[in-house]
Amino acid sequence: MPKTRLTAADPPKPPFDGGCACGQVRYHLLDHPLFVHCCHCTRCQRETGTPFAHHAMIEYTNFQITTGEPSYVLVPTDSGGKHWVARCPQCHTAMWNEHGTRKAITRYVRVGTLDEPGALPPLAHIFVRSKQAWILLDESTPKFRGYYDAAKAWPAESLARYDAAKKLRAQETKSAGAKAKKPTVKR
Ligand SMILES: [Zn+2]
Ligand SMILES: [Zn+2]
Repeated sequence: MPKTRLTAADPPKPPFDGGCACGQVRYHLLDHPLFVHCCHCTRCQRETGTPFAHHAMIEYTNFQITTGEPSYVLVPTDSGGKHWVARCPQCHTAMWNEHGTRKAITRYVRVGTLDEPGALPPLAHIFVRSKQAWILLDESTPKFRGYYDAAKAWPAESLARYDAAKKLRAQETKSAGAKAKKPTVKR
């Protein structure tokens, strides 16, 4: 079965490689992202210092760090939560976010840190209510005033992949918990 085409024309195939500005940390996406969006919320604007954040979401099972080890910085979100931002410890380029916990199901990869960022155009624009007025969006890409319902906007294949990763994570957490609870044998 052919893979779902997430990008127009003849898109480059995964893996998609990326990394920081100095090259100390490198990563790759083993498959197409689950979804790609541009977030125009004021928090993303502040955090990135740009008009919007361009994120490719991929489940943790299809994301690998290939070189180096990032440092994780905790950043507050508008919803009162927090997310971890993975940065190069040397040049501090922010490469991806992990929402809520370091055990998050998805990585929000900052598309601009990919070697070929043009390969992953957005499939939706979200929080366009705070979009900067000078940015003109094309008619064909779906737009949402605030957040969107992934169950409606994501392709069925992506939802299935997300669910599979979520189940796997739950199993891992369960078996890690069981291991930790094992009584220690006294001599
Ligand atoms: Zn670096
Ligand atoms: Zn945002």
